[in-house]
Amino acid sequence: MSRRVLVIGLDGATFRTLGPWAARGEMPELARLMAAGCHGELRSTFPPLTPPAWSSFMTGKNPGKHGVFSFRRLAATAYRSGDLITANQLRARTLWDIAGEAGLRVGAINVPPSYPVRPVNGFMVACLMAPAGESDVISPPELRALLPEDYAISLEPPRQLLPSEPGYREQCLAYLEKLRRLGQQRLQVTLRLLREQPWDLLSVVFYEPDRVQHFFWSHLAAAGPAGVAPEVVAEIAAAARAIFHDLDAALGELVRAAGPEAVTFVVSDHGFGDAPERFVYVNRWLAEHGFLHARRSWRWRRRIVRRLPARLRARYDTLENIFVDWSRSQAWCEVMETRSAGVWLNVRGRQPEGRVAPGAEYERVREAIRAGLAALREDGRRVFALVARREDVYQGPHGELAPDLVLYAAPSHGLMFNGLRPELRAHASFAPFVEYGFTGAHEPAGIYVVAGPGIAPLGRRDEAPIEALAPTILCLLGVPVPDGMDHARPLRSRPRAGRGRGRGVALPSGPGDGRGPPARARLRRVRARRCGSPSTALTTRTRAACGRSSAASPPAWRRAATRCTWCRACRGAAALPCPPVTRRPVCRSRASASSARRIAARADAPGGTSCTTSPPARSAWCTRSAARAPS
Ligand SMILES: [Zn+2]
Repeated sequence: MSRRVLVIGLDGATFRTLGPWAARGEMPELARLMAAGCHGELRSTFPPLTPPAWSSFMTGKNPGKHGVFSFRRLAATAYRSGDLITANQLRARTLWDIAGEAGLRVGAINVPPSYPVRPVNGFMVACLMAPAGESDVISPPELRALLPEDYAISLEPPRQLLPSEPGYREQCLAYLEKLRRLGQQRLQVTLRLLREQPWDLLSVVFYEPDRVQHFFWSHLAAAGPAGVAPEVVAEIAAAARAIFHDLDAALGELVRAAGPEAVTFVVSDHGFGDAPERFVYVNRWLAEHGFLHARRSWRWRRRIVRRLPARLRARYDTLENIFVDWSRSQAWCEVMETRSAGVWLNVRGRQPEGRVAPGAEYERVREAIRAGLAALREDGRRVFALVARREDVYQGPHGELAPDLVLYAAPSHGLMFNGLRPELRAHASFAPFVEYGFTGAHEPAGIYVVAGPGIAPLGRRDEAPIEALAPTILCLLGVPVPDGMDHARPLRSRPRAGRGRGRGVALPSGPGDGRGPPARARLRRVRARRCGSPSTALTTRTRAACGRSSAASPPAWRRAATRCTWCRACRGAAALPCPPVTRRPVCRSRASASSARRIAARADAPGGTSCTTSPPARSAWCTRSAARAPS
């Protein structure tokens, strides 16, 4: 039987809200899919952000291999980010390329990054990167008639929605109503393309969950922002939930329209949680520790520059010329997402006024900043969950486009967009978090739900990385998985006897993953050698990390490290309170039987929710800490 695959993307969807709603019957179509197949958390990229995460979904590769790290092109050789990224920055083949070349018909509707649109063996509708008013938003252009004249790809979010502002309630309700209409129009367009065009693989992304949760997370998941009357919170929450009810109905309509031979995936690029309570001003910290220098005379420089003619003023009224003395600065911080940032070193030969010499000085400065930020605390609370070298997070030829250090803040702290100037002018490194009126922020744990013909109804499964979706989808379509994807094997496992949970989804037997049994056995042997463990439950990236960390870890880092729950060959880099530990350790390669039993006992212990020896969820990104996130 020929199989088709339908992928419905819900940007920013999380089981923290969808789980209880599905269980209570508020999202019956989602609940039906969850019961009929498999579901679990989907680990996002670093940063957990729309462009890199959907890029990893469609390429099966981490950002080090596809080259998309943020909404903007990062400033690898300058002092500030470049333009918004486009599909031209994606440097890896996508699902649509691979399936299309295999002769299958594909359709991609609003999946970022897909602007500018380009020819595929099927059709492609541009994503939110398309400028407002752009008419060239579908390929092939002959299909433009299938889109309404006023087809909206995205909505400009409000500049801010603060409860203290007059008309807060009206602004919130008006924005939610516009979002609801956006989703309804997208459903109609998708149904039309789905019914009128041939397809084997169809993907569509709805942006509404992300937009709703940024501004209304606390209305949905808590009592609403301080200072807003409970009846107003309830009214706004009801309008926000109506959007999710619409999306649930859309799932049902799309699944029915796709037909019984289609396997359906419902996936998100990242999850959501509470917005942070505090800002941490990393640039302020860098300045206090002598890594970054503001000009003392910046006021005079600015006054002079502002008297220049407009053309010259635009050229010279910049941070580089006014505010920062780059010739004395070694590093600065650039925010990628509310809790994610990168620290760039001002490297000689790379930046215009580079100061740090490549080689030993680069490593010394980078390690000093890494150690300082990793130890940074406010009121006894650790500020960062992850401070890692870029090569410990990204693998691939484009890793050099990433910042020299990557930071992921603890849930309590957030970072300021475009914060260089205000942070340097601040009098302290911490402040209350206020950003656009956001009450929610991205988190790494997204969702996957897969159901359809041949998918076993295994229910809740373990967390999976977003890069594993592409090989899984190709496998379902019967297309060989090309070399170079991060997860050479698709999510594929049989339920183990006597165990309700396992890794990945149980795919039907049929088209292989492009590798015969001997090749698979060889791959297993190679990985087992690198890891020192025959465990089959570790991810590819974790196994690779085991080899690296056990072979060449600096002594200082080993001393500072804490133990990882899942693999004693690796070491967690942080000791934050972590989410409940619900799984047994799976890799006991270097553990004695007694210590493995001890770890297992801790994992099973009631109330074991603030384990200080297992790593936080986001250390899953760092090959040094090399642990999978607790579910
Ligand atoms: Zn977002």
